[in-house]
Amino acid sequence: MLIQIDKLKRRPRQIDVAEEATGFPVLSELVAAETVTFNEPIKGSLEAIWVGDFIKVTGNMATLVSTPCCRCLASVSTRLDVPILLTYTNRAEGETPPDDELELQADDLGLIPFSGDELDLLPDVEQEIVMALPPQPLCKASCLGLCHSCGCNLNKGSCNCEAPILHPGLAALKNFKV
Ligand SMILES: [Zn+2]
Ligand SMILES: [Zn+2]
Repeated sequence: MLIQIDKLKRRPRQIDVAEEATGFPVLSELVAAETVTFNEPIKGSLEAIWVGDFIKVTGNMATLVSTPCCRCLASVSTRLDVPILLTYTNRAEGETPPDDELELQADDLGLIPFSGDELDLLPDVEQEIVMALPPQPLCKASCLGLCHSCGCNLNKGSCNCEAPILHPGLAALKNFKV
């Protein structure tokens, strides 16, 4: 996902991506930590255009991930479709463009600085994918989770553990309507 700046100034660049998660350093770490499993390569396309001191990158990335349910640890499949909208600038900080040069929209306020002859999109595209991962996946909204005592999956049946015994004072509070 490397862009040569002088080539980009001459013509827009189309980039087709079909990359295993292991091609991304942070995603590789998440896979190693078993936080997420990628069931498909990450695929998508990006277009980069040069707009006078700015590089606009638009496109999308899609893949299929599995993450453990945050209550019962069952695997939950989620299709990710991640819109990519990145704006880079090589302007020095604090410089503002003339109004007619580029209309800055709210989405563009997160300008990413770059310098040099090359720009690698991978870290920022990767970050967008990380942000799109389901934060608290649930196998179903009504997931009952695991028993705190014996670890049995309460979706598959109840266990013989006693319900936690409340302190008599706490039990009284339980009935107290706020
Ligand atoms: Zn669950
Ligand atoms: Zn139990």
